[in-house]
Amino acid sequence: MRGVLFQRVAIIGFGLIGSSLARVLRRDSPETRIVACARRAETLATVKRLALADATTDDAAAAVAGADLVVIATPLSAYAEVARRIAPALEDGAIVTDVGSVKGAAIAALQPTLPKRVHFVPGHPVAGTEHSGPEAGFADLFRDRWCILTPLPETAPAAVARIAALWEMAGMRVATMAADHHDKVLAVTSHLPHLIAYTIVGTATELGQDLQSEVVAYSAGGFRDFTRIAASDPVMWRDIFLSNREAVLELLQRFNEDLTALQRTIRRGDGEALHEWFTRTRAIRRSIIEARQA
Ligand code: NAP
Repeated sequence: MRGVLFQRVAIIGFGLIGSSLARVLRRDSPETRIVACARRAETLATVKRLALADATTDDAAAAVAGADLVVIATPLSAYAEVARRIAPALEDGAIVTDVGSVKGAAIAALQPTLPKRVHFVPGHPVAGTEHSGPEAGFADLFRDRWCILTPLPETAPAAVARIAALWEMAGMRVATMAADHHDKVLAVTSHLPHLIAYTIVGTATELGQDLQSEVVAYSAGGFRDFTRIAASDPVMWRDIFLSNREAVLELLQRFNEDLTALQRTIRRGDGEALHEWFTRTRAIRRSIIEARQA
């Protein structure tokens, strides 16, 4: 029989992602002891009520004592402080991983402070919803999605393999790449679409009151899908844009150029060019469906 993957897991930051991972452990690794760490008493009370952890604390250092795995799942802006608090309390040989959406910034905030006697495996489960907090989590959040690990040159392959096994247990496919490559890819697939959604929904809310009620009434025309994305957690997305500034700005430049080209096509009444453009984008949707990522 296979041994337990981790004996004691400390999850620092117990919101959508942290609590979903806890649910996976509860389901697939019931022998694993889970320690939940969050800031607010209200969050910790919810975790207790949902029986998602064996112990709860607001003290990150206390949470990691005795843990063979530490998962950092707070907003990115809290990473440096979390690292400072846990560093002296980490067990020798423990694995520290994270779930942050921008890997360059996650590594910059954690690596200098984490002691050399632990293994650091940066990671990003590319799965989420627009909801936050421990009640929003569910075990199947990760199923059939990708998890990207961005190990450092010095990261022990055995530690990477154990984190890969953890996310595979959650139903994910695991890929490994360099942190800066991850940040460029995610700028395209996630950060720019969110920025566009925030822009469109922001523009609509600036409109006059009469028009606004009609915007809500007829939102199924496309606007509704943007409002779902633009309802994502403001703290998390503030942190993402500040942490992945360069990649996002570079991409935005190209997006602006394409938007201008499309604008010109419409002004010229070039139906053929528009049709060609929309046919190309439709094919991308089909390939996403075929890859089971729809
Ligand atoms: P969330 O639901 O808002 O939960 C955040 C958790 O972190 C809460 O338990 C919060 O505690 C805790 N926290 C916040 N600031 C803290 C601090 N200074 N010290 C200690 N704990 C703190 O967030 P989430 O959506 O799970 O996102 C967490 C991380 O996952 C982020 O880094 C994000 O980039 C990444 N991620 C998110 C998604 C997504 O779609 N949501 C997808 C992939 C990766 P309190 O409740 O006590 O305030």
